[in-house]
Amino acid sequence: AYNFCAGPATLPESVLAQARDEMLDWRGTGMSVMEMSHRSDEFVEIAEMAEQDLRELAGISDDYAVLFMQGGASSQFSTIPLNLLGEKTSADYVNTGIWSKKAIAEAKRYADVNVVASSEEGGFASIPDQASWQTSTDAAYLHYTPNETIGGLEYDFIPDSGSVPLVADMSSTMLSRPVDVSKFGLIYAGAQKNIGPSGLVVVIIRKDLLGKARKETPTMMNYQVIADNGSMYNTPATYSWYLAGLVFKWLKAQGGVKAMGEINRRKAEKLYDFIDVNEFYANPIDPRFRSWMNIPFTLQDDTLNSAFLEGAGARGLLNLAGHRSVGGMRASIYNAMPEAGVDALIQYMADFAKERG
Ligand code: PLP
Repeated sequence: AYNFCAGPATLPESVLAQARDEMLDWRGTGMSVMEMSHRSDEFVEIAEMAEQDLRELAGISDDYAVLFMQGGASSQFSTIPLNLLGEKTSADYVNTGIWSKKAIAEAKRYADVNVVASSEEGGFASIPDQASWQTSTDAAYLHYTPNETIGGLEYDFIPDSGSVPLVADMSSTMLSRPVDVSKFGLIYAGAQKNIGPSGLVVVIIRKDLLGKARKETPTMMNYQVIADNGSMYNTPATYSWYLAGLVFKWLKAQGGVKAMGEINRRKAEKLYDFIDVNEFYANPIDPRFRSWMNIPFTLQDDTLNSAFLEGAGARGLLNLAGHRSVGGMRASIYNAMPEAGVDALIQYMADFAKERG
């Protein structure tokens, strides 16, 4: 079966097989990783290795702390303003879809939020030209969502935020292609797409941004505390961390993010090319900003949606229904989706259109 779920998403088969093989007895310890103390030598080794591999894969310098936090990406929507506002009162946000809106709504509880640009009027089908953004040099940071998982809209550039720290929700694009981390103040990513199981959230923060948390910030949300304690102020999500480490090793074996980016570009282009030439299907996004990871599409006749999904399921093509808020279909094709999965989907779409179109 090929699982096109947007998250929790498919994981590399070999990673799951290794986890299964190590499930009851991790390297002769007689324990599952799930049963180990997070302070044990064994787990600390697993944790440090995962961080080291992530640093290598993403090109993260020592100027940045890497945190393995909990509460998913959504908890970061409040953690970020609580930590980064410092003496400032306002923050800039770009609104390009449902995840941007959620981040904005949460930040409004703590900050004066300036929505510096929005593509809402156009149905979130494009990214506003950066020349039109109303940014402010007084903002504590500029937040954007490089890939809108629900809309299938992805930036093909890194915004220039000047001297203001740039903050990015990379939940659904992390490690899918090379990114220059040094351009960012903070990057965060919920793990359940390209990294591992849900609940875990990876935060990459430039060290000079630590130590600015507001007094009322919960200890568990204070980046400085988490950094000072190696992400083990409390009991971390040990098993998710371990699985993330296995995914990082797998990614390195595939040739890293550069190789992965080439594969991801090819997978996405194939599917978009097919959608564009077959008039039975459509994708509404400005071609320049089409996501490599999440590809929404509609059927010419939406009364056929259930039949489409049923037929897909019968061929082992799973979870193709679009997000409940937008309908239609969505194929999420993260790193772990093999190219053969995309080929199988295209074949099915062609067969379905021929039969029912
Ligand atoms: N941001 C983006 C871009 C997402 O795709 C998601 C989720 O699925 C989230 C945030 C929320 O992540 P979580 O469910 O881990 O809180």
